Amino acid sequence: MTPVSEPGPRRRAFLTGGLALGASAALPLWAAGGAHALDGPAVADTTAWGARPASSPVRLLPTPPQKIIVHHTATANVTDLSRDQAFRLARAMQNWAMDEKQWIDTGQHFTVSRGAHVLEGRHSSLTTLRGGTQMVESAHCTGQNTVAIGIENEGTYTTVDPRSEQYAALVELCAYICRQYGLRAYQIYGHRDFNATQCPGDRLYALLPQLRRDVAARVGGDPTAPVWPLLRSGDTGDRVRALQHLLVRRGAVITADGSFGPATERAVRDFQTLTTATADGYAGNQTWHQLVGPVRQGDSGEAVRAVQLLLTAKGVPTDPDGAFGSGTAASVAAFQSTAGLPADGVADARTFSRLLA
Ligand SMILES: [Zn+2]
Repeated sequence: MTPVSEPGPRRRAFLTGGLALGASAALPLWAAGGAHALDGPAVADTTAWGARPASSPVRLLPTPPQKIIVHHTATANVTDLSRDQAFRLARAMQNWAMDEKQWIDTGQHFTVSRGAHVLEGRHSSLTTLRGGTQMVESAHCTGQNTVAIGIENEGTYTTVDPRSEQYAALVELCAYICRQYGLRAYQIYGHRDFNATQCPGDRLYALLPQLRRDVAARVGGDPTAPVWPLLRSGDTGDRVRALQHLLVRRGAVITADGSFGPATERAVRDFQTLTTATADGYAGNQTWHQLVGPVRQGDSGEAVRAVQLLLTAKGVPTDPDGAFGSGTAASVAAFQSTAGLPADGVADARTFSRLLA
């Protein structure tokens, strides 16, 4: 059993300050024990649901995540809403991950059951979330496992929506993750934004704009997700150059000449294959999502060059020296102001997308 705490002041403020969605679903978990409820939603940890030990130590990353990725489990839309069913699911998923996939532990960080029970997935996902500065390397989305928190939602949402209670628990969990890690509501994505997969199903995927809005209503900020250009063979210009710099950063051997020719198409395809995205040679949603990460003061290299040349193309002249100093930070902040974005000087995914628009 793990310690159970009474709701503290932050928890109470959280409940009274918002819509308190999911609070009633959370209460039985505290009462039953084995759930942490320090200042966020009650989450049943690996001890509570009877996890096997990881086959080797989970890897703690010293950095917080950059995003949340939503999945569905593609299992039956069960009508058993009990905690026992949620715990059985968690054990079955861990067995599948360890025995079939040969992973060290459950793939995802968290699971939301049909009955709105929230469970820890991979060991240490919950303690690192409570701490707010580290994350556990995971195995839920190729190319994103060191930068994204993965949430599995029990069920198959290709033709039906999740249960409203399940959705409310997902909102509460995402809001808590955003608070703990300083993420913005727009940084919530679906698995298919990165890999060639139907996950999280057409219906749950279609709910993501609403999810971002509901989370933004709790944590603040603009929930509008990035929109990416589609670049293809024959295209030319600064957006192609930026793409090429980002591909070079990921190991492509091409020249950033601003011309989307056969070599760039091959590089895009290789990168898509590497990240199990749809390997079509077009640089679109999945490719940009996989290529772009936050770039900030102190960084250097190809991604910084991409930011600098895009800033200049947008009328904010910036020395393309590949070193993100205070001048580049000021340029980013100036651009963000004109684009209606928070002017924090960090070239995050949404800033990138506006620079590419
Ligand atoms: Zn998935």
